Amino acid sequence: MAAAEVGDDVLDRDPTMRELELRVAGLVGATDALWTPSGSMGNLIALMHHLDRGDAFLAPAGAHVLDNELGTAAWLAGGMPRPLAHDAGPGKVSPAAVRRAAAGGDGPYHALRTTLLCLENTHNAAGGTVTAPDEHAAVVAAARAAKLKVHLDGARLWHAAVALGVPPAALTVGVDTVQVCLSKGLGAPMGSVVAGSAEFVAHARRLRKMLGGGVRQGGVVAAAGLVALDRIDRLAEDHERARALAAGLRERGWQVSTPQTNIVLISVADLTGTLQRFEASGVRAVPMAGQVRLMTHADLTDADIATALERIGPVDAAAVRADGHRPPVRPGAPTSP
Ligand SMILES: *Cc1c(COP(=O)(O)O)cnc(C)c1O
Repeated sequence: MAAAEVGDDVLDRDPTMRELELRVAGLVGATDALWTPSGSMGNLIALMHHLDRGDAFLAPAGAHVLDNELGTAAWLAGGMPRPLAHDAGPGKVSPAAVRRAAAGGDGPYHALRTTLLCLENTHNAAGGTVTAPDEHAAVVAAARAAKLKVHLDGARLWHAAVALGVPPAALTVGVDTVQVCLSKGLGAPMGSVVAGSAEFVAHARRLRKMLGGGVRQGGVVAAAGLVALDRIDRLAEDHERARALAAGLRERGWQVSTPQTNIVLISVADLTGTLQRFEASGVRAVPMAGQVRLMTHADLTDADIATALERIGPVDAAAVRADGHRPPVRPGAPTSP
């Protein structure tokens, strides 16, 4: 970062930032790309580009654009959110559901204009679940046939690609725009990239400026993004550690998801109490979709996983629901190798 060649990205581009953008464009199979300070801003720029005020957009329930971006999709991009149930497995929607939702409405005068499908791979709130290339292609084809634009929130796209053993571009086929994060397990302190056509990127650059996201000597942070891209294959270690963490928790009586990537979800009766208990033992977790979310990332070792398991220890009575109820969202095994 200290040695990065820099320019003025607000004026006439910064060379290191440009290198990062073009490298990401190549990785995701897009013509061009634009750095943004955060993934939320990258998603917002794409939604502002695609939506007119009052347009409805579809997204799988629990999507980051629906639940974790403070309503900016509606507030700033003017979209009417229409969550779709995960009818094709955790985090995934079927082509039929997209067709039905796109066609819905009560006649030409009252009906909302549904113009966009926003996908998420991996799906964060469902537990980092992976959508495979064939499933992705089928849903995108259904959206296209219904004349919808498609944005992919690929904040964790690298995780999906590594889990499936496919190039990231295999998971972006047919989309208009895609957003990818450089900080999700890869170790960059900040930064995302939003990619699409040259026309999209020209407009996106204006929208980024409007949102206050233009930075000058951006090469300093873009250099960290380039290092992050060199570390994509290393994510396989995080996925392995997430599986080890989940297995260890299960042995200790906790009700855990089967991780497909680097996210472990634990179902508990007392969410707040469990988070406090974890925090007190020195293991920081966040609530996600009513469950405890643990995450593995670039800064963790196998020894850290062992330490976390030791500190968390066996499940206590407060974390188990008296009625033995098993909460419904349980990511299963990946549908493709
Ligand atoms: C983290 C994340 C984002 C947003 O990234 P920020 O940089 O935190 O704004 C968007 N979508 C998904 C699925 C994410 O996991």
